[in-house]
Amino acid sequence: MPTHNIPKTDKTLWWKILLGMGLGITLGLILSPTGMAVVDDITATTLGEWIALPGIIFLGLLKMVVIPLVISSIVLGVIDSGSLHFLKTMGAKLVPYFVMTTFISISIGVFIIQAVNPAQYIDTKFVDDIMATSDIPFAIFNELNIPQRIENVIPVNFTEASLEKNMLQIVIFSILLGIIMLTLPKKTGKPFSDLCEFAQAATMKVIEWAMALAPYAVFGLIANVTIQMGLDTLAGVGAYMLSVLLGLFAMFIVYLLIVSIIAKRNIFTFLKAIRNAQIFAFSTSSSAATIPFTLKAAEERLDIDEKVSRFVIPLGATINMDGTALYQAAAALFLCNIFGVDLSNGEIFLLMLTTVGASIGTPATPGVGIIVLATILSGVGVPPEGIGIILGVDRILDMCRTTLNVTGDLVATAVMARFTPTDK
Ligand code: ASP
Repeated sequence: MPTHNIPKTDKTLWWKILLGMGLGITLGLILSPTGMAVVDDITATTLGEWIALPGIIFLGLLKMVVIPLVISSIVLGVIDSGSLHFLKTMGAKLVPYFVMTTFISISIGVFIIQAVNPAQYIDTKFVDDIMATSDIPFAIFNELNIPQRIENVIPVNFTEASLEKNMLQIVIFSILLGIIMLTLPKKTGKPFSDLCEFAQAATMKVIEWAMALAPYAVFGLIANVTIQMGLDTLAGVGAYMLSVLLGLFAMFIVYLLIVSIIAKRNIFTFLKAIRNAQIFAFSTSSSAATIPFTLKAAEERLDIDEKVSRFVIPLGATINMDGTALYQAAAALFLCNIFGVDLSNGEIFLLMLTTVGASIGTPATPGVGIIVLATILSGVGVPPEGIGIILGVDRILDMCRTTLNVTGDLVATAVMARFTPTDK
């Protein structure tokens, strides 16, 4: 990707975003009916919606570009890798690595929820109401079998896949397109690779515009969430939120160990190099929208060969989501505990396996991890309405888990760069 495609950003953006967050929480607490309640409930809700408007536009712009950005980045990434042989060698290491780190992350999430048991701080009265009104059938893992799952990932209808945001199908479709391009004569594939370059450049322009809105967006979204959530709810789910944050932090430490022991890099230099990408992940809550910044960190600051970064990063952004996986497992277990669904060790293991798949299939866009969580929940017999309990704090957790997702992609790139010989 030519460097001019990478969105330009303002160096003080990080501070503006943090300021936006701080001011958003403060304004939210001033307006919230359970905070200082300076206005009545209805006015507070209406004001909240208006204040959130820049955020809604911001998220809309990011969601708009995700599918073209992912397809074009993966196709160009496969083409840039140069040969099928290189792809096979790297893929054979990358996929097991992704699965392994996702599993470690999920185990951390499960362990922390079991140890802290944040469900004990939740008032069970309204849980009974949700149970009474839910018509979701209780089914413990009546999931699809393996042949059916394989059938489900074949992108038979691309339009349907993009309509349903079935990321796994889209990723497979894009990899196939890239491979086809590698096998065709250059001249035949050129119009399509030109189209992908255009799509990538165009989506990055949109991201550049969206980023100008970021501080106002974060301010508005956080203020609105705080108004709606109020102090009571925050206190109730506070233990859950802290457990997830603790889990994400523990996984972050695991990454640092991987960077130092496996990738053999200095962790401080590494952290400095990836800081900007983390900031963008945090403010956009979208691993996909962060792809240009993740690539820039890898290529310009970590000095990783483009052949590796351009394949690993777009793919990692869509399928390697350790933060999301940790969060989904932790949230599912937390809700199981609240709803009194007692899982045996075997069922917890199945939950972990399901979460590996769910995190792979989660689109790299803001706030979707929680939507995919609904399918995991019906698998373990928790009414998906239970999500209402954790919805309030999802915005903040989304920002944090996306930051971990992107960090994980950069760690994977550093590891792959060490073990994949290139001619750099
Ligand atoms: N926002 C996350 C990401 O893009 C996905 C999620 O909602 O967990 O990485």
